[in-house]
Amino acid sequence: MKAVIMAGGKGTRLQTVSKDIPKPMFPVFNKPVLEYQIDSLKKSGITDITLIIGHLGAVIQSYFGDGTRFGVQLQYFTEEKPLGTAGALYYLKDKISDDFLLLFGDLLLDMDWTRFMSFHKERRAVVTLCGHPNSHPYDSDVIVANPEGMVTEILPKNTERSFFYHNFVNAGVYCVSPRLLSSMESAEKIDLEKQMIAGQIGKGTVYAYRTTEYIKDMGTPDRLHSVTADVKNKIVSSRNLKNRQKAVFLDRDGTINVLRGFLNNTSDFELLPGTAEALRMLNASRYLTIVATNQPVVARGECTFDELEQIHMKMETELGKQGACIDDLFFCPHHPHKGYDGEIPELKFDCSCRKPKTGMLQQAAEKYHIDLADSWYIGDTTTDLLTGIRASMRTILVKTGEAGLDRKYDVRADYTAENLLEAVSIVLKSNPY
Ligand SMILES: [Zn+2]
Repeated sequence: MKAVIMAGGKGTRLQTVSKDIPKPMFPVFNKPVLEYQIDSLKKSGITDITLIIGHLGAVIQSYFGDGTRFGVQLQYFTEEKPLGTAGALYYLKDKISDDFLLLFGDLLLDMDWTRFMSFHKERRAVVTLCGHPNSHPYDSDVIVANPEGMVTEILPKNTERSFFYHNFVNAGVYCVSPRLLSSMESAEKIDLEKQMIAGQIGKGTVYAYRTTEYIKDMGTPDRLHSVTADVKNKIVSSRNLKNRQKAVFLDRDGTINVLRGFLNNTSDFELLPGTAEALRMLNASRYLTIVATNQPVVARGECTFDELEQIHMKMETELGKQGACIDDLFFCPHHPHKGYDGEIPELKFDCSCRKPKTGMLQQAAEKYHIDLADSWYIGDTTTDLLTGIRASMRTILVKTGEAGLDRKYDVRADYTAENLLEAVSIVLKSNPY
């Protein structure tokens, strides 16, 4: 497997920090961003790396040389004139015969590349994007994909969005098939997303991989500062999915948002005060934030899958506006008891995901390599507590929503908190990262 890194960026946004160092050479905690990328690729066994250099490329070449010192083999191509985000791929057209990874050199990241590549190969995609939630989806390119991961649209940044959307942002890391390059005829300026990928979306050949791993650009002095703290606190490396993850699982109604009976429309969805602040604290830690919610309204025919998705998009849009995100959400649309008007018979069965069963937690654990015994469950009902207890997690009862007064199960929480914000403080006090 081969990787190509676009390292020709001019670093305009970072010129207040320094103007003689190309963006990929910016030191974060005494090490260039590009070196983090090379180290990460090497951890997944990828040592054949091509660097596309341009502006101040000599600085990169003299630091990395042929790569021996870093345990990899490096090859360089120099962009004589700026060719946009993809034009330089023309140089590789006849030199690459297998799927390859494409990275932009100004991202601080650490990923399990094997996992990403497997997703891409299983779908025989022409391009696979890497998508993740971030703290500013409102000014990011947002990926719209179907449940299988096929991309149907990319909502460009800097456009007014008067609708709800998932916080699923294009992270700037790609798996590319040589088929994408076949139509390139010369080294012309071309945009990867707006031209090359946009042209493939209608053909159903573009997929999006979802990850919780650390991928952030350090394009502004502010971001550079926060990324440096994350490296120091080992948040960058610990989030690599090769490592076991820990998570805080959250119930939805009564924990994140105001409890209003059986919610079935977006206008009744309202975040509880402090939710965004609580999630921002989790987002800055090593914990993944995962929502697991029973939604029997779907089985009972009171809310369609589309309406449920709209509610979740509203949650993600509103949290995003406040700089907060959830890493993923799992819901159980089933219900065991038959006999409701308008019910959907095929969803009426005794499933393995409805809490207090632990099916959703198991699904999340498998998807993100989570150690449930090192994780927490926060909810407002005894059903939530029993779910967490059964999965060997530590539990916190919040006094919002039902406040544990449902008394369905005779269980006790490890801690009790006034609200989600206090609950998250308890988690982070017990383990600050
Ligand atoms: Zn279920």
